Amino acid sequence: MVSHMYASEEAWQPQGCAVELPLRFVWGASMRKIFSCSCVKIKQSGVVVMKCYDCPLVEGIYRFVETIAGASITAAQVLVDGLARVTINWCGGWHHAQRDEAEGFCYINDVVLAIHKLREKFSRVLYIDFDLHHGNGVENAFAFTPHVLTVSLHKYEPGFYPGSGKLLDVGFGQGRYYTVNVPLKDGVRDDHYVSLFHCIANKIWSAYCPNAVVVQCGADCINGDPACAFNLTPQGIGLCIKKILAWNLPTLFLGGGGYNLPATARCWTYITSIILGCQISTSIPDSNVDFLCYSPDFELDVIPGNRSDLNTAEDMKQLAEAICTGSPLFKTDCCWWTEVSEHAEIGIHNYNRVLGTAMYSCQRYLACFEAGFKIISYVNLKCMTVMQVILKKHEL
Ligand SMILES: [Zn+2]
Repeated sequence: MVSHMYASEEAWQPQGCAVELPLRFVWGASMRKIFSCSCVKIKQSGVVVMKCYDCPLVEGIYRFVETIAGASITAAQVLVDGLARVTINWCGGWHHAQRDEAEGFCYINDVVLAIHKLREKFSRVLYIDFDLHHGNGVENAFAFTPHVLTVSLHKYEPGFYPGSGKLLDVGFGQGRYYTVNVPLKDGVRDDHYVSLFHCIANKIWSAYCPNAVVVQCGADCINGDPACAFNLTPQGIGLCIKKILAWNLPTLFLGGGGYNLPATARCWTYITSIILGCQISTSIPDSNVDFLCYSPDFELDVIPGNRSDLNTAEDMKQLAEAICTGSPLFKTDCCWWTEVSEHAEIGIHNYNRVLGTAMYSCQRYLACFEAGFKIISYVNLKCMTVMQVILKKHEL
């Protein structure tokens, strides 16, 4: 199905200057405006310089965002053209960027751009977001339309970024009930998470009948991430992915957050093996260029965390009921699903290539995160206040 397409590297070169395409998500908003709105001018040694909150202006950023967006748009185009059933861009999944504002280390929302591309052919696109953080940029982009149903499973508690994504946020106007938010507390485990996802996925499948799917696989939900929130493993997310693959729909897989690089690379490599229908060795190949990063066990598996699960069984039951029976959209019964059963061996070359691609992709994400974090540490509270005022003005 996918493997031979994936193996063809030539087919996956991103299109050129993505942001010069007639893109509806950056309508009229110049890149300068997108960057500058989250910046503040401060004086440093008598010289006025721009300092940015979490999306700093760094050298080569324009080329960086056009490559990311171009790759996701290209991956969507491949699905539109029917050249593959599944495409992957682990460098994509920058789900926080807004139409006219860089946010949350995301300079451009490649997810939204890819969905717009898919909408040229597919009337109902389902977006599923496994990232630890709420997929606010994607939700905002499609909150008013029934043609894109967004589902985000995320940590939701006061003070946790981005602060949106509560259960009762269900969309607006004609898009009402086509936004699904699954707010979770710290410590959620695979069994609860997978059961809840299966329940919701069944409802969506039978009621919405999507004809294309986009999946954001942010790996900051995995145990070991510095965010220290959930107890999930790649195996748990993998069970959710198998469910999605069993629908046999054109599907685009994207990366996202993930700040423990070896854990993120492990997660995306494992998911790639599931997508390809290949069984891979649990031992990291010692020929891998980043082999030492995977110490001390050099295993592909990530063990589950042992934090207290603040999501009680009753919480999860109520959440499932609220989502699956509370929405007028989901009144029909659950439907079937089948396991992906075909297995094949994946060669050591491909193993290393997938692992390397995953590691490279999360390094790109982390580079922005770290750059942003340095700026945050630098900007003092007074500047933060000034910046908020500037942002407020911008909204007006
Ligand atoms: Zn995240």
